Amino acid sequence: MTDDAAPTCLARPLPGPGDDRATGCAAARGVDGRPLHAAALKFFWGPMDCGKSTMALQMNHNHARQGRRGLLTTRIDRSLGPQVTTRIGLAHEAVEVTDDLDLRVLVRDAWAEGVRVDYLICDEASFYNLEHIEQMAELVDRFDVDVYAFGLATDFRSCLFPAAQRLFELADEVARIQVEVLCWCGREGLLNARVVAGRVVREGAQVVIGDTVDSADVRYQVLCRRHYRSGDLGPRA
Ligand SMILES: [Zn+2]
Repeated sequence: MTDDAAPTCLARPLPGPGDDRATGCAAARGVDGRPLHAAALKFFWGPMDCGKSTMALQMNHNHARQGRRGLLTTRIDRSLGPQVTTRIGLAHEAVEVTDDLDLRVLVRDAWAEGVRVDYLICDEASFYNLEHIEQMAELVDRFDVDVYAFGLATDFRSCLFPAAQRLFELADEVARIQVEVLCWCGREGLLNARVVAGRVVREGAQVVIGDTVDSADVRYQVLCRRHYRSGDLGPRA
């Protein structure tokens, strides 16, 4: 981190050898009295199968190696359990986000137990409530906790999930995950088609659990926009 983007003393470098993280600007402190370091809310989005959960776990690993401590949260992970799982076999325990869960309370409770929380990694964030997104922003602004959200942008109708829309509106940084998922035609995959009985459906509940494997009753297939619009699942469908 450089001071280029932080003309005041908001920047708090990651702790390293000989680095005292308590030496911050006395004026720039969060509500808990800790020095602020210009935390950020970042939203990483992409279609199904693009490696979002893998990237979430990789990010957690990278931050942990730098001595930072964070919490993972998820909702409706494919394992249907309180963990983040990936299609390439990685898994990590995570807090299941329910309607009643307040992310601010989650962090404050951890602090009260003496557990440091420098950041939150929120997987499957498109499935969170709008209140959860506001809580993420407050964690960044008032509590100086970095929040990294991962999720789909659009649902099976190609419309934004409400939580994703709010993240686009509020996030300091939005990034499309660059792991390319290809449509069967070879074009870049963009949209998540819901497939029931071999046909693309365009009506129904916004969230229906399925997977991208062919055996599921309800499955999803990532298509390019052209084939999403035409409903063409390709020669192997
Ligand atoms: Zn295509």
